[in-house]
Amino acid sequence: MKRDLHNHTVFSDGINTAEEMVQAAIAAGLKEFGISDHSFTSFDPGYCMPPEEYPEYVQTIRFLQKKYSGQIDLKCGLELDYYSDDVPEGLDYIIGSIHYVKCGEELLALDASPELFAEVVEKHFGGDAYALCEAYYATFADLCRKTKADIVGHFDLITKYNEGGVFFDENNDRYRKAWQKAMLEVLPDIPVFEINYGAFNKGLRSVPYLSEEMQIFLKEHGGRTIESSDSHSILTIGKFKR
Ligand SMILES: [Zn+2]
Ligand SMILES: [Zn+2]
Repeated sequence: MKRDLHNHTVFSDGINTAEEMVQAAIAAGLKEFGISDHSFTSFDPGYCMPPEEYPEYVQTIRFLQKKYSGQIDLKCGLELDYYSDDVPEGLDYIIGSIHYVKCGEELLALDASPELFAEVVEKHFGGDAYALCEAYYATFADLCRKTKADIVGHFDLITKYNEGGVFFDENNDRYRKAWQKAMLEVLPDIPVFEINYGAFNKGLRSVPYLSEEMQIFLKEHGGRTIESSDSHSILTIGKFKR
């Protein structure tokens, strides 16, 4: 069954309305489609959904669910960042994502730009990218408690600007140890990890998130994967194939 549960609309940083996205999902032949706009992060409000818009968000998607019920199974989800303050109720599912790393009192985005990524490594981790990776993956131990997620979002988002290994070697032992430990901590509570085509569809990466090696390790330890496009417009809905 073709489904895509990670999609953004104008309620957060997408460029199309929820209805335009649903219509495009139907046109793309999807049977199940989920909208998962960004939860509110008070320290970085630019791209996400203010809490006062949650009710309208849920109402809109519930309305569309009925309107298109004969054509597609529409779900109301949320991409909940680890550092969001609260977990809203009444959703069909939650994607738990970690977009930031804690540097002292600051929370800095890992997926904003290669320049910011380089700055975080230099300024906050003394030039040691593996130390940043270790800090990032250590956060996952608490992902379930913080987000109550059903799906782990783009687990290796930290590789967004690492095409060709420009910041770190993904075969390095410190890197592997950090993600394996995190995956084993998350798995008993959240056994479903995304294969996320967001950066791939933008041409930033040659492979989707959840590296081949991670996919194998996950399956060996009883986890499952779900493909998603992480679409921010109608153009990439349901686009999974490499
Ligand atoms: Zn995300
Ligand atoms: Zn997303």
